[in-house]
Amino acid sequence: MQHLGGDEARSARGALGAAMKPSILVVEDEPALAELLRYNLEAQGFEVRLGGDGDEALMLVDEKRPDLIVLDWMLPSISGIEVCRQLRRKSETRAIPIILLTARSEETDRVRGLESGADDYVTKPFSPSELIARIRAVLRRSRPALSEEALSFADLAMDLTGHRVTRAGREVHLGPTEFRLLRHFLENPGRVFSREQILDAVWGRDIYIEQRTVDVHIRRLRHPLPELGGRDLIRTVRSAGYAIDAQAAKAARG
Ligand code: CA
Repeated sequence: MQHLGGDEARSARGALGAAMKPSILVVEDEPALAELLRYNLEAQGFEVRLGGDGDEALMLVDEKRPDLIVLDWMLPSISGIEVCRQLRRKSETRAIPIILLTARSEETDRVRGLESGADDYVTKPFSPSELIARIRAVLRRSRPALSEEALSFADLAMDLTGHRVTRAGREVHLGPTEFRLLRHFLENPGRVFSREQILDAVWGRDIYIEQRTVDVHIRRLRHPLPELGGRDLIRTVRSAGYAIDAQAAKAARG
């Protein structure tokens, strides 16, 4: 971060300070349960917003993207399943982890819930601590670097709040897919990902995209990064996939 100028450095620090609390949107039409969840989640250090039905849920997601949604299946107006499908269809909301709450416990319902794109499924009645354990597990899986609003690697810095990427302090312009792709690499530096793993992480599990598409976006990500000086940070691992690489980073500094 030492490459950022005064204002930028301040805003990056501000973002880090505000970033400690993962934000959870709880969509539940039963007020007593909603309040119980809010109380317990806030006590565990989460920032909580409540929505009472499907329409409100979609509106609140548009207003501010939560880090995770706890979504009741049976809701007035649009059902939880339908909310889930709608969020999965849009690229901006596709990656938000969703835990479905439901009174249904049959296996076919479980499958239907997961097919709609939910990441996990909790059957009522449940204890708040059980739900919180699931929330933490889903967040760990989907967003390992959630507690940070800024990521950096070598001379590359990503401001997640402002959606900006800089290299050696100069702004790099990336498309939304390239931004998510780079973010995924920065959250897991040094780890090699197969094309399939990259597709799952960046595009989501429930849409079909050819693996070649990954190569196209890797090229688009690779192209602007060295333009400002420095070497390619993305390493191609033959027949395995791609990684943001520590060796490449050393070379970029020297
Ligand atoms: Ca309900």
